[in-house]
Amino acid sequence: MAQIHIIGGGITGCVTAMTLADQSHDVTLFEMAPHLGGSLRDFRPDRTSGLWGFRACQYLNPAEPWLADLLEDLDCEMIRFDHTYGSYTVFDGQSHFRDDIALPVLPETGAPLRPYSDPPRTLADRFSAYPDKIAEFLAGTVARCGHASEALSTECAASLQLPAVFIEGDWANMLAAKTADPLTDQLIAMPRAAFGADYADIEAVLPKHGYDPFFDVLAGLLARKGVRLSLSTPVSARRKPDGTGEYGAYINGNWPEADCTVWCCNPVPLVLMSGLGRLSNPASRFVHLHAGLSGLSLEGPRYIQVFDPNSPLYRLYVFPTEFGPRCCLELHAHLLTSVAEARTEAQGILKHIWPGLEIGVPQSDPVSAHYLFSHNDSLLFDALEADLVHQRIIPGAWRVFGRDSKIHAIQSDLEKSGF
Ligand SMILES: Cc1cc2nc3c(=O)[nH]c(=O)nc-3n(C[C@H](O)[C@H](O)[C@H](O)COP(=O)(O)OP(=O)(O)OC[C@H]3O[C@@H](n4cnc5c(N)ncnc54)[C@H](O)[C@@H]3O)c2cc1C
Repeated sequence: MAQIHIIGGGITGCVTAMTLADQSHDVTLFEMAPHLGGSLRDFRPDRTSGLWGFRACQYLNPAEPWLADLLEDLDCEMIRFDHTYGSYTVFDGQSHFRDDIALPVLPETGAPLRPYSDPPRTLADRFSAYPDKIAEFLAGTVARCGHASEALSTECAASLQLPAVFIEGDWANMLAAKTADPLTDQLIAMPRAAFGADYADIEAVLPKHGYDPFFDVLAGLLARKGVRLSLSTPVSARRKPDGTGEYGAYINGNWPEADCTVWCCNPVPLVLMSGLGRLSNPASRFVHLHAGLSGLSLEGPRYIQVFDPNSPLYRLYVFPTEFGPRCCLELHAHLLTSVAEARTEAQGILKHIWPGLEIGVPQSDPVSAHYLFSHNDSLLFDALEADLVHQRIIPGAWRVFGRDSKIHAIQSDLEKSGF
């Protein structure tokens, strides 16, 4: 039985703690907040009314083995639905709405894709494979986040929802080109409708009454499995005072001994404290506006990604609650000038799906951040990762944005380390 410390009580830390406890290890989970949940915690502005909303309504995929295992053990009411998502793109003054793809939808330019001259290092390198007008458009959507595409690592493409684009044209030709050429396959995506009846809908789940009760039940489950929860406990990384120069997890004024420490929270503070150098562009900040909705009948939650270089809107979510349908508008904090304007703009987009819809008076939610990094930052990560693994700190797959890939990467790192 190994003694394991998990740092961070978001979904990644909780799932990792549960997997290791199931293997009979002695697990302690340290979380700096007074509760579990991390970025999935709900917006709950008013404890007396109980009103709530998903914050960046993040769906879970029940086909994921980690979730299937968890849901088997977890007594929490979930809603299952077909994962429906769309995108709203404004290119050259023309708007394109599609209800079956969450990537930019762009007109055909007739120009071919160009192979990368090098393996791409920055987002600008990656975008240079597209025809010029499309590359410029994509650089504009990155500029919305407050960053230049030349400055960001190509590894940030997925977190900015830009791993590929859909270029309108003959679908049969495009599907054939994707099959024939790996570059086209990587950079060009197709809407679900292109796959016709062959396309299997992706099922998604969300906790029916929000994520906070889900994490309350999860805390109980972890405790029953023997995981010690140390809440309100911030952890930092400091060099140990033993002359080795090694980093250790510094907890409550000490470096408690562990056979392995798994870093399941954002690594930015760890990197900044590591003495390896400064990070270039650590954050892109968001504001969430929450509001009730009227004039629509809602079959299930929906999400729409917005690609408009002139808009502060980043994404829109619509979901049912016991208080009626509600929405969450995710906006770039530095571009938000007026809540009223943001609401009118969001209403214009949502009316593509629900013509009679009205968004109520929005309430705003504190800022949250996506962490972005440059190519040079990724070299710092490489160096630090090599060092930390040597010290039995599993770095936490911190370049990875989506929770499923993050959880897989940590599990694979743990396996490589013999767990
Ligand atoms: C606005 C937004 C939208 C997103 N949308 C999606 C999406 O749609 N799909 C998707 O897959 N991913 C999305 N993500 C990525 C998201 O980060 C992951 O999906 C997932 O929720 C992250 O879970 P996590 O447990 O890895 O991290 P987090 O939820 O960030 O949890 C980390 C936990 O660690 C704690 N912590 C941090 N530092 C310390 C410390 N020093 N000591 C102790 N505790 C610490 C924090 O308090 C937090 O509870 C989104 C992220 C954001 C910010």
